[in-house]
Amino acid sequence: MLEDYHDGQPVAYDILKKSIENKTIAHAYLFYSDNADVAFDFALCYAKTLLCPDNKLNTKTCDNCSICHRINNNNFPELKIVSPEGLWIKKDQLLNLQEEFRMKPLEGNKKVYIINNANQLNAQSANSMLKFLEEPEPNIIALLTTSDMNGILPTIVSRCQLIKVMSNSNIRNSYDNISNKSLIKIGELYYKNESDLKDFLENDKSVIKLDAVINFIRKYELLKLDVLLEVKKLWQNYFIDKEDYLLAFDIMVFFYKDVLNFMYNRDLEIFDYYKSVIEKAVSLNKIEDIIYKLQKILLTKEKIKYNMNLSLLMDKLIIEMESR
Ligand SMILES: [Zn+2]
Repeated sequence: MLEDYHDGQPVAYDILKKSIENKTIAHAYLFYSDNADVAFDFALCYAKTLLCPDNKLNTKTCDNCSICHRINNNNFPELKIVSPEGLWIKKDQLLNLQEEFRMKPLEGNKKVYIINNANQLNAQSANSMLKFLEEPEPNIIALLTTSDMNGILPTIVSRCQLIKVMSNSNIRNSYDNISNKSLIKIGELYYKNESDLKDFLENDKSVIKLDAVINFIRKYELLKLDVLLEVKKLWQNYFIDKEDYLLAFDIMVFFYKDVLNFMYNRDLEIFDYYKSVIEKAVSLNKIEDIIYKLQKILLTKEKIKYNMNLSLLMDKLIIEMESR
């Protein structure tokens, strides 16, 4: 069940759990990963979570009810799995699927289908897939999986909610001791390859840097321009070279985006762990202020690359953010 992925896939887990809790389940998901099997296993687990009547999100696993048994034996009519036959997923396979899914579910209230290796849809089948996605039925949920995003029509991608599945979820089972899940989420967004992510998460300095950015923002939001007097203590002790600055600036961007999420009543993407700081920033800013700050951070970040004096750059950023 989904709960089994709580630690191994915290980002994907969070998104899907919230969508179930908030009843905002999408019509179509695309699970992508470096490893096709991992993406498929994850999609199948999510399908079970959607279909099992005994599923409570907080129980580790059901796997006991007759529906779970039948899903495990690939013998449950409300779940259909379509995999490539030979090189391609053929149009006929999708037509059969659509025919079977024309009827209302006999058991429960949902039907789920998985298109395994959706990058192997050929031109004709991709077209029928697209039509299927364009006319979503409220009780039908599509789960596509792939290890090759480039192999999928952009028009299909754009109709799906994208869920990244880490290909080596075992990596992170060894990070159970990281209580700060925001760190893991930032690592996942920032580092494209998994050995860099591993280095980041294993380095004790990473969480210190993350805390330093958040602490800086907290102080800046309270003190505004006066924070200039404390930049050395709050910032320059932690961030020294370009690489530090680029990461720190991205963390600021992620942070203010979450402030916007909060303002728009959307779920926080990353900073659950620092919710009180988010709330403080929300109380001190209007939406336009946050957008302005984001623009200034992004513009200043561009300059990091050009060998600017970094500590001056930071002063300049503070002044610019307050110049609205
Ligand atoms: Zn069950």
